[in-house]
Amino acid sequence: MTERTRFAPSPTGHLHIGGARTALFSWLFARSKGGKFLLRFEDTDIERSNEVYKDSIIKSLEWLNLNPDEEPVHQSRNIDRHKSLALSLFEKGAAYYCDCSVEELEQLRATQMKNKQKPMYDGRSREKKLEYEGKNVLRYKMPDTSTSFKDLILGDITVENKELDDFIILRADGTPTYNFCAAVDDLDMKITTVIRGDDHLTNTIKQLNIIKSLDGTIPSYAHLPMVLSESGKRLSKRDGALDIMDYKSEGYLSQALLNYIVRLGWAKDEIEKFTMKELIDFFDLSDVNSSPSKFSLQLLDWYNNEYIKKSDSSTLLNLLIEIGSNIDEKVKNIHSIIDVLKVGAKSLREMNENIEMFLTTPNIDNSNSLTSEDNKKIIKDFLNSFDFSKEDNLDSISQRLNGYVSANDLKFPQLGKPLRYALTGRTNAPGIGELIYLLGNEESKKRIEDYLE
Ligand code: GLU
Repeated sequence: MTERTRFAPSPTGHLHIGGARTALFSWLFARSKGGKFLLRFEDTDIERSNEVYKDSIIKSLEWLNLNPDEEPVHQSRNIDRHKSLALSLFEKGAAYYCDCSVEELEQLRATQMKNKQKPMYDGRSREKKLEYEGKNVLRYKMPDTSTSFKDLILGDITVENKELDDFIILRADGTPTYNFCAAVDDLDMKITTVIRGDDHLTNTIKQLNIIKSLDGTIPSYAHLPMVLSESGKRLSKRDGALDIMDYKSEGYLSQALLNYIVRLGWAKDEIEKFTMKELIDFFDLSDVNSSPSKFSLQLLDWYNNEYIKKSDSSTLLNLLIEIGSNIDEKVKNIHSIIDVLKVGAKSLREMNENIEMFLTTPNIDNSNSLTSEDNKKIIKDFLNSFDFSKEDNLDSISQRLNGYVSANDLKFPQLGKPLRYALTGRTNAPGIGELIYLLGNEESKKRIEDYLE
């Protein structure tokens, strides 16, 4: 049997971290079994679904390299099929029409609440033997038993069916409802393993019964625990609910994001970094943690820095240009600048901002204490004795700087802090030796003179 998994987003928003993790786990599971990964848009909510989001989800999956192996399925295009299967359940007595009015159902609910019972439809139309009369709904007759399945992450699950009501599968206007469509599509797409968030557990009980009633083969199910914010709450925009493409424009590398996402609830020994091939070799749903994971921007930044450091300057230059940087090959020393900056860069965006300091004259603020008389004196003495006419490499500049500091009885920061400020207008910048080397002697001298003016 070939494994077939699917990712089934509703195109009512962009792809976020949680969705990307579901997609990644489904993709990895399929790959690790030599199977296929499919994409299905659950777009029957016409009001909220939008083609823009479909495109954006596809783009995000492309960027993460999680492309589906078959053409995407659009649920809304299968409505006739959903309807006809719903009617087939009616024909065989597994579904029935219900003519309860809204008022009647509200009354039922109020009574149940008053009696401290769980508010739910009580099956009162089960034996009415109604036909469709243009305004009644079709309900699925939940079997009077319990439902059990072995979740590939959560283990054995059993639910008494009476906990769930006879839910509607065709609305009064004849349109099919979400759970019914999803069950039919999983069946028609020959999905063997459904991997999704654990907020769908109740849906699974409903869908599994539907598939059984349709005499279909029931897939395996794996429910992923939630991804929470660092403080244990639902993810908000600030902590991970960003559009995946925002991570790209913020300067995250897709390998870093993938490596970070896979660790949200999955681990293999103490290994931190994986190639895609290793992930495919190692990934197993049984290693997914059954409790929620927490999003950590700090850890994501760590991964990003790891992958940035490992990339060569040409790759980084291309990625910088891709996210809209205006630098190019013509910038003097650009490859060396990138090689120096990549060591500490948390993102390409940050690196791009730091490249600016090599391209534009610093803005010196004379109210900054680094421009005090004492500091200026130190820099003036340095300017007078440091030989800017020498052809240097990074090592020799650093040696000459260290020599100057000890010969003049200074501690390095006494020279370093104001000098860094003079060269860049910033307090946070690479080492002085690297700055002078990358700016070049002439430009460095000029910046120091400007600072002293
Ligand atoms: N469309 C559902 C969602 O976006 C996913 C349902 C599923 O994976 O079965 O949450």
